[in-house]
Amino acid sequence: MTNPLFDALFAPLAGQTRTLLHLADGREISAGAFHALTARLAHALHRAGVQPGDRVAVQVTKSPEALAVYGATVALGAIFLPLNTAYTATEVDYFLGNATPRIFLCDPAKEATLAPVAERHGARLLSLSGAGEGSLIDLAAGQAETLAPVDRQGSDLAAILYTSGTTGRSKGAMLSHDNLLSNATVLADHWRFTDHDVLLHALPIFHTHGLFVASNVSLLTGGQMIFLPGFDLEQVITALPRATTMMGVPTFYTRLLDDQRLTRDLVGHMRLFISGSAPLLSETHTAFEDRTGQRILERYGMTETNMNTSNPYARERRAGTVGQPLPGVEVRIMSHDRPVAPGDVGMIEVRGPNVFQGYWQMPEKTREDLREDGWFLTGDLATQDAQGYVTIVGRAKDLIITGGYNVYPKEVEEVLDEVPGVLESAVIGLPHPDFGEAVFAVLARAKGQEPDLDAARAAVAERLARFKHPKAMIVVDALPRNTMGKVQKAELRNIHGAMFQG
Ligand code: AMP
Repeated sequence: MTNPLFDALFAPLAGQTRTLLHLADGREISAGAFHALTARLAHALHRAGVQPGDRVAVQVTKSPEALAVYGATVALGAIFLPLNTAYTATEVDYFLGNATPRIFLCDPAKEATLAPVAERHGARLLSLSGAGEGSLIDLAAGQAETLAPVDRQGSDLAAILYTSGTTGRSKGAMLSHDNLLSNATVLADHWRFTDHDVLLHALPIFHTHGLFVASNVSLLTGGQMIFLPGFDLEQVITALPRATTMMGVPTFYTRLLDDQRLTRDLVGHMRLFISGSAPLLSETHTAFEDRTGQRILERYGMTETNMNTSNPYARERRAGTVGQPLPGVEVRIMSHDRPVAPGDVGMIEVRGPNVFQGYWQMPEKTREDLREDGWFLTGDLATQDAQGYVTIVGRAKDLIITGGYNVYPKEVEEVLDEVPGVLESAVIGLPHPDFGEAVFAVLARAKGQEPDLDAARAAVAERLARFKHPKAMIVVDALPRNTMGKVQKAELRNIHGAMFQG
């Protein structure tokens, strides 16, 4: 009997007395206790009706229990489907409609709001709080602390992670056991993770970075995690002396640099700092090295593929680049169906065991981006030099990445376009020292009217997660357009580019 992902990440924890998780409140959870929790949760989910192949959708605060739900779902041969905690009921409605999960697990505080949404899509609602309480935990009480995982093939799905798409609707990237395990194995080796490592984990676990890159690598190598609910500067500075490695989005590094307590003394013992999910500015890389002597290792990946490229561990980590293709991952830079010359810009395409199985229930979208011969069109534009180092120059699709989260402009524009006095809108990302990019909206006034900015702010607050809210809005007479009628977003970015720069 095999269950590739569970066998590699979770099964080895059984009975181990060593610490697995260090929590912000000083509590420690042993590997054995975490395994027992995973088993109890698996039995509870099974009792709640979860069968192999079912989706278990989860929108909960980060906690040891939430991580254990991932293990429990995989053990049952079901598909783990984490959702951003910031999503509103309207957004959750879309995800549950698309994924039709057997279970929807939410925070007890949101149960009343989300119950009708779960009911509409035939999902059983269970709850779990950040403090590890809720109906799921009640159901798990007294359950057996051992389990026999359900048999799975490497090609069976272990998770669906939703990503942004060009249509304004998120797409569910289907990830198999082999996708996740192959990438975790390569990363653990490439970054030299061992059971001596203590990973400072301050990332969310609803996204590929915190869930798969960070947690999978640490679990696979038998290490420990300092498992913080989020990036709290005080908690991170307190935890750093006990850590050997940290994975973060660029914002983590800029926030640390803003604090004078970040010194060589504080982090001199650290083995490795890794950055990804959004571009790390060369200045941040250099400033971090000047202050601490540590060269941040930048890597590049995405929901659909896990990680594709990484700067080397022992050789040169080049600021401003995302490094070279990982072992086993093929990368090519293409333009008009042909590889570009070294140094020229093209779209990154990747192929390898890490590349996803397609978009859930969207065969046409899958065909557009994932070729029959296995090449995936990432939508990222980049150059590659003679040594294979890749430099990302932009995104083909105008996706905004703010604080490591993707914002698809159209989703915000659709809300703004309905505001009284607005003819149309254009939402773009502008450079921001803290968030990487900030969401910025340009509203064109309807003839003879003035857009109601208070109504605009109220509309986005009601319908969109906070990280998608524009940080600023301006009103213009008309949006710039080309002869084909397309809005010139590049021009808007040029005009307003300095908006958030000091
Ligand atoms: P997500 O699917 O949320 O992980 O977002 C994936 C996208 O984030 C990629 O397609 C890239 O556009 C961007 N990304 C990830 N890592 C980096 C990086 N190191 N530098 C620049 N962009 C990155």
